[in-house]
Amino acid sequence: MKLLEEKILSCGTVLPGNILKVDSFLNHQLDVTLLNELGKEFHRLFSSYNITKILTVEASGIAIACFAAQYFDVPVVFAKKGHHKNIGTDCYTAEVFSFTKGTSYTVAVSRKYLSSDDTILIIDDFLANGQAALGLKKIVEDAGASLAGVGIAIEKGFQDGGKKLRDAGVNVKSLAIVDSMTDDSISFREDG
Ligand code: 5GP
Repeated sequence: MKLLEEKILSCGTVLPGNILKVDSFLNHQLDVTLLNELGKEFHRLFSSYNITKILTVEASGIAIACFAAQYFDVPVVFAKKGHHKNIGTDCYTAEVFSFTKGTSYTVAVSRKYLSSDDTILIIDDFLANGQAALGLKKIVEDAGASLAGVGIAIEKGFQDGGKKLRDAGVNVKSLAIVDSMTDDSISFREDG
């Protein structure tokens, strides 16, 4: 998606450890006009799947998921990180290794909010090694729900998360795929 690629080029910065910082529009300050366009594009890509819920993980996925959900007219459910007494023990859970933090954490979704009648679209801000998306996929499977696909704003194509998910038969659509990045250049895959 050209608009997102241009924004990454003009405002993104590359940090050591293969981290793309997009705090000025996606991960801290939010460019709501851009987010609205991302939401619209996710709807265009997944509109034929009868999505009943969008599933994401706190915190960075929530804003993108909400903009998309307006177009699908469905609720957003976000997996909570860590042990949350306030959502109770009746949860679907998965262990996720965090690429950015280098540690594992548990994500949990209350059983109340996912059912076997649901067709789920997973949305997240980044796809790196695929741990967050695979954790959410496990939760969808544990709930007996159908997974329509995974919508990602920025996939880092030089990490293997996209391959893992696609090899597992998951319909992954990324709005921008970074093929390579250095301190002073970022290049994108044509089909991103
Ligand atoms: P994965 O689980 O695919 O390894 O990593 C995806 C998660 O890690 C995303 O939810 C995102 O929050 C975070 N992440 C991975 N790579 C980056 C990155 O380059 N920049 C930022 N800002 N977050 C990232």
